[in-house]
Amino acid sequence: MTIGLDTRLREVLGKKTWEALKDGLGLETVGDLIGHYPFRYAQRGERTDLGALEIGEDVTVAAQVRAAVQKSFVPKGRGRGARPGGKPRDLLEVIVADEAGRTLTLTFFNQAWRAKELVAGRWGLFAGKVAQFRGRLQLNSPQYQLLAEDAADPGSAIQEFAGTLIPVYPATAELPSWNIAKAIHTVLDLVPTPPDPFPRALREELKLLGYGTALRQIHRPESHEALGAAKKRLKWQEALVMQAVLVRRKAEAAGDAATAYARGGALLDAFDARLPFALTEGQRQVGDEIAAELAGEHPMHRLLQGDVGSGKTLVALRAMLQVVAHGGQAALLAPTEVLAAQHHRSIADMLGDLARGGELGAPPEATRVALLTGSATAAQRRTVLDEVKTNTAGIVIGTHALLYDGVDFADLGFVVVDEQHRFGVEQRDALRAKAKRTPHTLVMTATPIPRTVAMTVYGDLETSRLTELPAGRTPIATHVVPYTDQRWMTRTWNRVREEVAAGRQAYVVCPRIGGDDVEDGGGNGDKRPPLAVVDVIEHLRGGPLQDLSLGLLHGRLDADEKDRVMRAYAAGEIDVLVATTVIEVGVNVPNATAMVVLDAERFGISQLHQLRGRVGRGAHPGLCLLVSEAAEGTSSRERLDAVASTTDGFALAELDLEQRREGDVLGAAQSGMKSHVKLLSLLKDADIIEAARAEATALIAADPQLKGEPGLAELVDDLAADRGEFLEKG
Ligand code: ADP
Ligand code: MG
Repeated sequence: MTIGLDTRLREVLGKKTWEALKDGLGLETVGDLIGHYPFRYAQRGERTDLGALEIGEDVTVAAQVRAAVQKSFVPKGRGRGARPGGKPRDLLEVIVADEAGRTLTLTFFNQAWRAKELVAGRWGLFAGKVAQFRGRLQLNSPQYQLLAEDAADPGSAIQEFAGTLIPVYPATAELPSWNIAKAIHTVLDLVPTPPDPFPRALREELKLLGYGTALRQIHRPESHEALGAAKKRLKWQEALVMQAVLVRRKAEAAGDAATAYARGGALLDAFDARLPFALTEGQRQVGDEIAAELAGEHPMHRLLQGDVGSGKTLVALRAMLQVVAHGGQAALLAPTEVLAAQHHRSIADMLGDLARGGELGAPPEATRVALLTGSATAAQRRTVLDEVKTNTAGIVIGTHALLYDGVDFADLGFVVVDEQHRFGVEQRDALRAKAKRTPHTLVMTATPIPRTVAMTVYGDLETSRLTELPAGRTPIATHVVPYTDQRWMTRTWNRVREEVAAGRQAYVVCPRIGGDDVEDGGGNGDKRPPLAVVDVIEHLRGGPLQDLSLGLLHGRLDADEKDRVMRAYAAGEIDVLVATTVIEVGVNVPNATAMVVLDAERFGISQLHQLRGRVGRGAHPGLCLLVSEAAEGTSSRERLDAVASTTDGFALAELDLEQRREGDVLGAAQSGMKSHVKLLSLLKDADIIEAARAEATALIAADPQLKGEPGLAELVDDLAADRGEFLEKG
């Protein structure tokens, strides 16, 4: 039998082992197992080991046996089944120590024979759950593996071991880390060195290890240097494959034919003529870039980043009008019904009678703007579907309902996706699949995206940024308010009343809906559950804001009610909107000037930045009060202080990213990437990612199908297919 990366583990390992690997860790092939990298490396004398154990934690520690004491133990008459004065049991107590001399007790019942191997001086790995007994930390019946002992020279094993890094694997109860290590060693010894998929010239230029060497060294590193070299090689491979997928995808998309929509057109000209303000310099530039791409024969794929209120929607609308002016249709995909409805309203408002196509007295260049959401009645839906199908509606706005079957566009030429962080690439693709030819695509995001993330998660898009806010905006002032200080809270609600007295409006945002919701309140121990809108509105009504008109908005209201509340708020009939984060994205009521966020530490940095973008959208200065119990000096409080200290969305996004796990960053956007990227960090390996992007671009430009690099081509195809598979399931 020839063994390769595709060989099933059942063919090379014992039943117990391959079953445990499959059931516990989902590893089925030799390649899967070899790709199961250690998550850390234990080392003799590791500083943190025995000193930092926590009760209840599952640990694997490297330590040396100091002493083994045989005890006799008579079970006490306590607990079920205990027999007072019963037969004594053997208790073997073994004391082990790390290099710093910190000790830990191991206990074994009725296993006296272990004293023969657990002799003073031997080093081993010990794994178990940390418990406490009479103030001492101990492991009860731990699993262990002793390190090889050289009979001729007892000192040499330790000597040798001193320089060894012991891999610690993500493990399961059935299969401790060293059994995984053993299985990996077995497999590594059996498998012939796999062909190296990395382009040879590049490998030599970068002085990277060969594939086989890197795999062996990540599992059995002889030194920190060897481990570093192995990681570098494997990270480079992850980065190169990932970037090659994205670059190839981008190149392929760029080669597609798209409908060209000439610049300008009667509809856009009419719109520009009635615009009550001048475009910002950024809007003009980005608008030009987009207009030129729409006029080209190949599809645009562009990401438009800009802080909340920077005027992205206006840029997108002008682009949509260029397409509609030449007979195409544009779809705007929004993440929530509230936002879709709001886009619909504001776009219809901005267009005025240019949105009354087909009605008496409307200008000849007018079109219609259709709204399609999941909550439309059957009759409304039929009307809208008909307008979409007959190209009566040039602009179609909706949530993911637009993705469903049964929505037929007459001629979808342009797709705008708002607030991309809520959507995956997969959904973008699903909508694009509704077009006869590849449509032009513009993705808008208000969450500033650090460069390396843009390069990975949105690696198949060109990017533009709007960096300035339209003139006349005043920056938002943000302050952190301690919740427990009654005077501050009184002052907070008085500020809201002052804004309302001056004719303006406010938001109060809470982390939870409340009522019968059973969301995780984080309410373990003595911590209270997060504040809920349904309770807070009662409290405010009964006291601090009792003479004001309050409205309630959250995700559990039905769409009609949400829409009614948003309309009333936009019309100024509601003074203070008590809401959950449903308002986070894009809600635009320029008269709202104050926002109070309760339990603010429950929100992420970028989320708070998004939220406060809801105020100060008009001529009056915005105020955002972040109310929190987080004590000074805690990391929660530091995050809030960071939000209060800057309105630079990019700086906050970097900070936010540092606090999230890699998987979360890649997660929603690129599902296939998540399992592919094991070692590479979007944060720490920016240099590798950027260099790999450049290399991938050069490789694909010279050899689009990677015919000259079959090994790499296979990995690239696999990753691209992974994503496709998800799409079908999706
Ligand atoms: P974004 O989508 O980036 O959050 P919008 O396009 O919704 O921003 O614009 C926010 C507000 O600013 C809207 O009321 C819009 O009409 C207004 N606006 C957009 N561009 C300008 C401009 N150049 N000058 C003045 N106001 C503008
Ligand atoms: Mg917006």
